[in-house]
Amino acid sequence: MRPELLNPLFTEVEALKGVGSQVGKLLNRLGLSRLVDLLFHLPTGTIERVRVGGASEAVLGSNVILRVTPFEARSSAGRGPTRIYCSDEAGNVITLAFFSNPGWAKKQLPLGEQKIVSGRLDRYGDQWQMVHPEVLDVAKGAELSLREPVYPLTEGLTSKRVREMVNGALERAPSLPEWIEPSVLSSRNWLPWRVSLAKAHAEPGEESARTRLAYDEIFANQLALQLLRQVNRRKRGVALQGDGRLRERLRLPYDLTGAQRRVVEEIRGDMAQVTPMLRLLQGDVGSGKTLVALLAMLNAVEAGAQAALLAPTEILARQHHATLLKELDPIGLRVAILTGREKGRVRDSVLMGLADGSIDILVGTHAIFQDKVAYRNLGLAVIDEQHRFGVSQRLLLSAKAERPPHLLVMTATPIPRTLALTQFGEMEVSRIDEMPPGRTPVETRVISDERLGDVIEGLTRHVAAGGQAYWVCPLVEESENSDAAAAEERAAILRQRFPGQVGLVHGRMKGPDKDAVMRAFAGAELAVLVATTVIEVGVDVPNATLMIVEGAERFGLAQLHQLRGRIGRGSAKSTCLLIRGQQLSETGRARLALMRETSDGFRIAEEDLKLRGPGEILGTRQSGEAAFRLASPELVAELVPAATDDARLLLDRDGGLAGERGQAARLCLYLFERDQAVDLLRSG
Ligand code: ADP
Ligand code: MG
Repeated sequence: MRPELLNPLFTEVEALKGVGSQVGKLLNRLGLSRLVDLLFHLPTGTIERVRVGGASEAVLGSNVILRVTPFEARSSAGRGPTRIYCSDEAGNVITLAFFSNPGWAKKQLPLGEQKIVSGRLDRYGDQWQMVHPEVLDVAKGAELSLREPVYPLTEGLTSKRVREMVNGALERAPSLPEWIEPSVLSSRNWLPWRVSLAKAHAEPGEESARTRLAYDEIFANQLALQLLRQVNRRKRGVALQGDGRLRERLRLPYDLTGAQRRVVEEIRGDMAQVTPMLRLLQGDVGSGKTLVALLAMLNAVEAGAQAALLAPTEILARQHHATLLKELDPIGLRVAILTGREKGRVRDSVLMGLADGSIDILVGTHAIFQDKVAYRNLGLAVIDEQHRFGVSQRLLLSAKAERPPHLLVMTATPIPRTLALTQFGEMEVSRIDEMPPGRTPVETRVISDERLGDVIEGLTRHVAAGGQAYWVCPLVEESENSDAAAAEERAAILRQRFPGQVGLVHGRMKGPDKDAVMRAFAGAELAVLVATTVIEVGVDVPNATLMIVEGAERFGLAQLHQLRGRIGRGSAKSTCLLIRGQQLSETGRARLALMRETSDGFRIAEEDLKLRGPGEILGTRQSGEAAFRLASPELVAELVPAATDDARLLLDRDGGLAGERGQAARLCLYLFERDQAVDLLRSG
């Protein structure tokens, strides 16, 4: 349970004086519902204002406070602004422009009545102008502060209003005991938590306070992961040591790569222990992770246990199922699939088979770890590319089971090391750093969308020669509907050119329809597959050697890398055409150039982080885990090593959560809602 001391921070924003349901709704739109959210909503900068007697004294483009007297108001007929002409004390004429709410503007600025206005002063033609100034009565003008924090806002809220509410929240915020290691605190000259919080709001330019708060957040995260690890180390799973009898009967068309062999041994070593395995398998797209998963699962089955493989999408679950069936059915293993689509009797029989142990290996989507799914003897859980399966799910998986299964998480997302530490800090890491032999590197070209005609000509030649191709449509907005519409339009155009040979998949389609199209494409009945990013992970059609990505600049680099990983899977030469818009920024150019230059996923991830500043690589969308609220990716990179050491020190040397600093650290865990680990510790 959350310590009482923190309760004031977790009350609803409506508890603040003067905050009713209306303002509450506006705050909710910003994702702020409790006082703690408001307090962690930090300003992005400061606005500075100067009081001037007349516009002619001011620096153009600066924010000024002026006394003015309106003398004429003019509303325009069409869409233009309402203009109110005023004179200032030096006799300059200033135009105040309002693009919305003309009635309000006129009421605030009655003709002939002196007022204080504040805003950015510009020239428009040969006139002084302010757009949407703040307007105050003369008596109130003195209250305008010359420096004011600027907050991320939504329509209907002002920075001033947010600042007032933050002040209200700060008044209720308790002082908290220190959880940061004293030497870290003093070497960085950090102030106590509450003081830092107040400072981060009052002086946004003051980096130190903000850095401390970011550190707190990262510390909470790293501590939670290490507690999870500690809980896991205390649990007893089942030692599984296969005897190789099934593996020997496998008829693989190729030899394992050295890297595959090495990681399989690492996994087998872990599984032979009673302590449940927690292992992350990193391997670039196409490095052959599926085969590693298969061998790990065989190892479990040889030792008399069941194994489950979780895929992120239905398409992938079906693809994995097909791969496993092909290899394992001949040697007598029972492999089943369970997704949202298996219903009624089919589903019942799978559930029965899992419960009585007649199913050896289950493949599926998130459904496979739901409460209703009971395994007779689950020894190994493999999670493939499932970004939404975050820390809390991993916690649940081990918490629920009396004897937790060994856990293998596989990812091709090339995340930089520090970010990996915040996501998978409790796990051991294996890396496949070698590609299967015989791959020809993908040739990547960047082409302006003016040359779309040439691209389609090229596609025509490719198809005429019996080739297959992906055509990936851009993300239009954060909405599957509009993405789907764009893809449908593109498919319609291509169908005129290639009648009967174009398939379409997008996120709005029903599972069976998607499968049918994927099957047709995999079976070479279709030459062109138009798709949104639903094909991004894992899809394996070696004969498709051409990929065209429309609106390439709108994708994250990591995402482009994943997409490109769909081709270059066979021995034939593959080509990736990145089509770009004509308005491209410097950074945009540099990003696409990088894609052309390298196929090293880790390098791409690191460079992307540098080039675009952060976000995209591990945005909430990809990680599924609550991304950091206070720690920008730059700060994460900078602070993770220290915060990780600090958390380790607390657990190893300072008596864990029981000691004095530990009690404070518990508060920190609850403050950042990383407290599941605490509860587990108590129950585990
Ligand atoms: P990913 O790591 O992206 O999941 P996959 O497991 O889908 O990669 O493997 C990519 C392709 O490489 C598949 O077609 C697979 O059959 C093939 N493959 C895997 N291991 C080897 C190997 N050792 N030698 C040759 N081909 C391999
Ligand atoms: Mg894969």
